[in-house]
Amino acid sequence: MPIKLQQIDPCRWRIPREGKMRVEGLVFADRAMIEVLQKEQALEQVRNVATLPGIVGRSIAMPDIHWGYGFPIGGVAAFDPEDGGVVSPGGVGYDINCGVRLLRSELEAEEIRPHLKELADALFRNVPSGVGSHRRDLSLAPHETRKVLEQGAAWAVKNGFGSAQDLDHIEERGTIAGADPEVVSERALERGRNQLGTLGSGNHFLEVQRVDEVLDSEAANALGLFQDQVTVSIHTGSRGLGYQVCDDHLKMMLRAAAKYGIELPDRQLCCAPLESPEGRQYLAAMAGAANFAFANRQLITHWVRETFEQVLRTGPSQLRMSLIYDVCHNIAKWETHQVEGRARRLCVHRKGATRAFPPGHPETPELYREVGQPVLIPGDMGRCSYVLVGTEDAFNETFGSTCHGAGRVLSRHAARKLARRRDIPADLAAKGILIRAAGRATMAEEISEAYKDVSEVVEVVRRAGIGRIVARLVPMAVVKG
Ligand code: 5GP
Ligand code: MN
Ligand code: MN
Repeated sequence: MPIKLQQIDPCRWRIPREGKMRVEGLVFADRAMIEVLQKEQALEQVRNVATLPGIVGRSIAMPDIHWGYGFPIGGVAAFDPEDGGVVSPGGVGYDINCGVRLLRSELEAEEIRPHLKELADALFRNVPSGVGSHRRDLSLAPHETRKVLEQGAAWAVKNGFGSAQDLDHIEERGTIAGADPEVVSERALERGRNQLGTLGSGNHFLEVQRVDEVLDSEAANALGLFQDQVTVSIHTGSRGLGYQVCDDHLKMMLRAAAKYGIELPDRQLCCAPLESPEGRQYLAAMAGAANFAFANRQLITHWVRETFEQVLRTGPSQLRMSLIYDVCHNIAKWETHQVEGRARRLCVHRKGATRAFPPGHPETPELYREVGQPVLIPGDMGRCSYVLVGTEDAFNETFGSTCHGAGRVLSRHAARKLARRRDIPADLAAKGILIRAAGRATMAEEISEAYKDVSEVVEVVRRAGIGRIVARLVPMAVVKG
């Protein structure tokens, strides 16, 4: 049965409250997207999330929404501990603190074009990728892994990977408070031990890009972006460690939900009250995994800088590869938001959604105070990606959140089928894009057609006012897991 939807305006749809829903649903999408969504289960998931205890405001879906484990990918939901609010591993996802960071440079695309092949090969060599990828040269002792979980990106900087300024440009400064390695299982720690500084597989990537168009010059200036500039995007998360933390806690949360009498429309929504021992334990383990992911992206950043310097035979001061920003898109975090005229401390779940804080917010880095927090929206390896900044409207309407990507439209299986008999590297080369990937299967699963058109997704965001578009980036070289 199709989900009941009421159109609010061209980009907003309401799922009215009915049955056990505690709040209504709010979906950001255009009509064409809604027609596709009506045939899928993701909207049902938005409705399921709305039934969870202590949910505040609305159960929100971004235009890149698609089906996920329990909660939809592209979902935002905030919970109030004073109202019995819950935390749910399914509202964060398996890849805890999967996220994106964007590096700028002083280079123009034409300067690196002659070295692009060498650059792609060297990046592919220097940053391990693929399923189960690991580093032979960086295997952490257990006590060191624990420090990574506590300190995040700061651990990496302390150990010589990057600079203290990098930390100013990471969400939460690269360290989520309250991490406790003692509640992370041995198995999870073991899985993380030699995976720090690796990309992983599939959707994760490292991309050398060119600024194809500046769409807002004031904001672009503030972010240090200019036409034809070379940028680098890094998309990865907490690898096997985060996956294991999620898996371990799903079992615990199923028991907890029964113990606290929480009614679950879907077992995958298993959760515990934020103030319960189980809820606290998950948040402490999740923060550890999130910090591991911040450190992971920080290490990769260091090797990207080194690789550019080696291949282009130049130094850091010429390249000026500074970090524009690093955002999480799979996380649950404590934040203060105004709800019904009152400032409340809420646990905001963003699963496949990006924080998008407005100009002037204390969490928005100093350098961007006038324009808002940078928001990084990858598209796909054959088309483009976008840089946005957060807005006041997003802060008021979506707990300061926006979309996180284009969003999948084809299953991995369907994408492989469509790509059969295609020469993917040749198709990309025809567009001036080099690809280096661990295997053909990943490339096939990641063809452009597997994703929505990110330009359409960010257009919905722009029209709805929950993000301001700054620049479009196009790929030059892509490293895929
Ligand atoms: P997710 O975290 O949901 O797996 O991925 C986030 C988004 O990254 C996807 O929705 C997709 O739009 C985008 N994406 C996946 N692979 C690539 C890639 O190789 N290059 C770029 N630019 N974007 C990608
Ligand atoms: Mn991920
Ligand atoms: Mn991701």
